[in-house]
Amino acid sequence: MAKKLYFGSNLKMYKNTAATVSYLQDLEEKTKDIPKITRFIIPSFTTLERASAAVDHQNIMIGAQNMCYADEGQFTGEISPLMLKELGIDLVMIGHSERRHVFGEKDAEENRKVLAALSHGFTALLCIGETADEKNYGISTEILRQQLKIGLFGVRPEDTDRLWIAYEPVWSIGVNGTPASADYAEEMHFEIKKCLAELFGERAERIPVLYGGSVNPGNAEELIVQKDIDGLFVGRAAWDAAKFDALIRQALKAYASGAE
Ligand code: PEP
Repeated sequence: MAKKLYFGSNLKMYKNTAATVSYLQDLEEKTKDIPKITRFIIPSFTTLERASAAVDHQNIMIGAQNMCYADEGQFTGEISPLMLKELGIDLVMIGHSERRHVFGEKDAEENRKVLAALSHGFTALLCIGETADEKNYGISTEILRQQLKIGLFGVRPEDTDRLWIAYEPVWSIGVNGTPASADYAEEMHFEIKKCLAELFGERAERIPVLYGGSVNPGNAEELIVQKDIDGLFVGRAAWDAAKFDALIRQALKAYASGAE
């Protein structure tokens, strides 16, 4: 059966407000005729108010790159879920590789954020992925299981319809990244889905698991046709609206020619 596909991008700390708004409007215009996919863009915090107002959220969901687990308090420099709610944000990304490896966030902290995001009605996008060392030691599956079991601890089964997972191996992300092979990505997605099924039973089937890490026009097709890959979470290759539109269409064409 054809699956619902997801395409999105994290803009990291690159586009200012004017550039974000014009990118979003361009992307919405270019891709709005593409049916049955979920699109989402995750811009920088300071752009969110204008970004949220710039698009129809039925066409493009807007996300935040991080969020504090507390509603308010002595948390200098943090952004509260209530503040994001005010801006009409749809989803919150939690545990991106750069949050974990540049800013030292741990699984228990990601768990508090996941629970807070879900309790405030957001879609929670939990990012997980092993480092190159962990892969070389042959413990990728164990690491992913740990990140899922701690990161999703206490998530109520009824909230899983607002839960997405992004598998982003740390060694595959960014300018120095090496893209995962489609076979390796599929193997990890299979393991992730197996763990989600242990945690949430049949409801796990509806949790999308997206692949991210150096997705580009050269590998998008072979990735999207993998059985357990539900979407592509794209960085650099998506930051030009025309190029992202072309990548989405290319991936969908490949998927359509393989889907039953
Ligand atoms: C990312 O940072 O989440 C990412 C997937 O980036 P890139 O596609 O540029 O590797």
